[in-house]
Amino acid sequence: MSCADDHDIDPENPLNKPDVPDYVQDAIRTLIEWAGDDPAREGLLDTPKRVGRAWLEYCEGYKEDPAIHLSRVFEEVGGYEEIVLLKDIPFQSACEHHMAPITGKAHIAYLPHKKVVGISKLARVLHGFARRLQVQERLTAEVADCIWENLEPQGVAVVIEAQHGCMTGRGVKTPGVAMTTSRVMGCFLEDPRSRKEVMSLMGY
Ligand SMILES: [Zn+2]
Repeated sequence: MSCADDHDIDPENPLNKPDVPDYVQDAIRTLIEWAGDDPAREGLLDTPKRVGRAWLEYCEGYKEDPAIHLSRVFEEVGGYEEIVLLKDIPFQSACEHHMAPITGKAHIAYLPHKKVVGISKLARVLHGFARRLQVQERLTAEVADCIWENLEPQGVAVVIEAQHGCMTGRGVKTPGVAMTTSRVMGCFLEDPRSRKEVMSLMGY
């Protein structure tokens, strides 16, 4: 094996893809069989490897503490103390009860108190918690709590609207139905006018 190209990593090159151990592939073969198909047929031969790698990506949030994205704050904000809102952030997660996809969008707002962060960091916090096995209620709370604890803002509001694969594709089979969860803290919880303002900025 040559190491000449080590710094030139092509994710499409099979040599650069993470190894999926046999016991993981066996588990996926068992699931395919249990579902009623033949894991030895041609189209499914490489599926256990692909599924193993895909799940590493779906769950890459376990590799990080999302709070890391809020560690670099700007304190010189010229007295800016108005709502900062990142709206319609698309995300994907996986429900911890069925391992089915949860897809939706999040709105994240805070009213700063001295500290602000680069706006993309709010999306990174969301993805850090979303790329795990989740329930939507906990995802909403974790994102809000993380911002609350790390930025010490005057208020935080997180609203998530999502569709659940376990609901649209099985059970009651209701495609198109979205679930909405929210968590509001600080002034958005205590002051009805602030709450109304942030909710109307979010489009509610
Ligand atoms: Zn579920």
